[in-house]
Parts: sequence; C-alpha cells; structure tokens
Amino acid sequence: MDSTAFFKLAYGLYVVTTRKGDWDNGMICNTVVQVANKPERLAVSINKSNWTHDVVKETGLMNVCALAESAPFDLFKRFGFQSGRNVEKFEGFPLARGANGLAMLTKDCTAVFELKVVSYTDLGTHGMFVCEVVDAKTVSDAPTMTYAYYHANVKPKPAAPAAAPSSEKKTRRWVCKICGYVYEGDELPADFECPWCKHPASDFEEVL
Ligand code: FE
Repeated sequence: MDSTAFFKLAYGLYVVTTRKGDWDNGMICNTVVQVANKPERLAVSINKSNWTHDVVKETGLMNVCALAESAPFDLFKRFGFQSGRNVEKFEGFPLARGANGLAMLTKDCTAVFELKVVSYTDLGTHGMFVCEVVDAKTVSDAPTMTYAYYHANVKPKPAAPAAAPSSEKKTRRWVCKICGYVYEGDELPADFECPWCKHPASDFEEVL
C-alpha cells in the first residue's frame, strides 16, 4: 500500500466542543463529514486518546465549529496542542453557547452545529460518532479552512538558517511536520517530544 495516497484526501478543520459539569473544552478536528441529509447526520471521528472522546461518549453531546481561513496559529495552539484534561482551554476566550449549553466560537468560524450522538462505532485508534444535527447556523461567508490551507498559510515555516562564518560549527535544525516547531542542536534526542503539539521525534525532519 502506498501510504502517501492518504495525503491526497482533502479535509476541513473544525473545533469540536464539549462540556463536562462546568468545564468547557474544545479540540481541533479534521474528521467531520456530513454523511446523510434526510435526516441530517454528521459523522465525527475522534482519537480515543483525546479527552473529548471520553466526554462525548459520556454526555452524548458536542458542538462543531467550522474554522474560517482567518483562524490564527494561536487558536490551533490553544485548542490543539494541549489537553482539556488539565487545561481549561476556553479560559479568557470569547464564546457563545448553544441551546445545549456547550461552547461555540464567536469568531474565525464559518458555521456552528449542535450535535447529539445517535451511534458510536469503535474504529481502533478512533471512535466514530454519528450525530443528529439539532441545530445549525452559518456564522460567516468566509471560506472554511482546509488542512491544506493550514499547512500552506497558518503553520509557521521554519526560519531561514542564519548565515554563519564557515569556521563555526553549523547548528542542525529539525522541524516538526505536524505543527512547525523548530528544534536546534547537535542531535535530536530519540525521546524528544514536541513542546507545542506533543508529537514524537519521528514526526520531525531535519532542515538542510
Ligand atoms: Fe509539533
């Protein structure tokens, strides 16, 4: 199997919100798709290691906010590079609430959906929730951000290496393929974990 074929699949980017007690949470997700229209059904697949997976399984509720191309990298760091288990990601962040009480973004968002889970399928690494659309609203006519747009325009690019005198030892640089974080040093430690997105050393490549 040619695993690079999977890179040819196109995705949008979304913030999936949940609420447990009075704890609001949101995560970045690219696996949201409308799978039926009478009645409307969205399928949302979530990695089982994400706290959101457990909260949705328990509460049966989530909101999906489609991100606009204007969404800044800080928004991805806030919702994507830390866990809602130990960080209240909506702390100090503007939000609206759906009729279900769950948070929704108020900007950098093109549409919001209030969802109620109707079925769950265990897919191994991920759990797939098929959801009833309780309510849906267009927030903006701006284009929805795709994964390709994020990689081309939002994710920071590694800066050009500074010109150094040839007698000096050249610093080696590795870039995280997931979020763009750059590590500098003599050698990338095998057990290195990206401080931004928590992906392992295997997701880094050396910048030559
Ligand atoms: Fe990273």
